Amino acid sequence: MVIEILLGPKGKAPFLLRDDDTNFFTATNMLDCVYSNAWKRRFKVSLSVISFQKSIDDILVPPSERKTGRSYSIIGNNQLIEFIKKKLSNELIEILRHGFSHTIINRKGEFADSFLPYILIYG
Ligand SMILES: [Zn+2]
Repeated sequence: MVIEILLGPKGKAPFLLRDDDTNFFTATNMLDCVYSNAWKRRFKVSLSVISFQKSIDDILVPPSERKTGRSYSIIGNNQLIEFIKKKLSNELIEILRHGFSHTIINRKGEFADSFLPYILIYG
């Protein structure tokens, strides 16, 4: 991937690098492979993290772990947690919340029906 800065009229170009679905199964070498050039240039990547990945039938879960009924806490992946801590301390990433388990309920994402109560309770 080639990343180049496109400058606006004032010589600046704000943009966001967001990567969804970081979870227990995310390989740190994959993140390094995708973002190493961006990090060399001090671009910050927003990792959208799933805290407690459910074993759904989706590409972000390895085939052998799909539909098992299990859940996987991201803190169970020590290599990933240490990677995240290091990148955070170097200000090369920020963490966004991407749901809790990434499950689909009634053909909707996990927050589709609960968005309003979430705002009322926490907002
Ligand atoms: Zn997602």
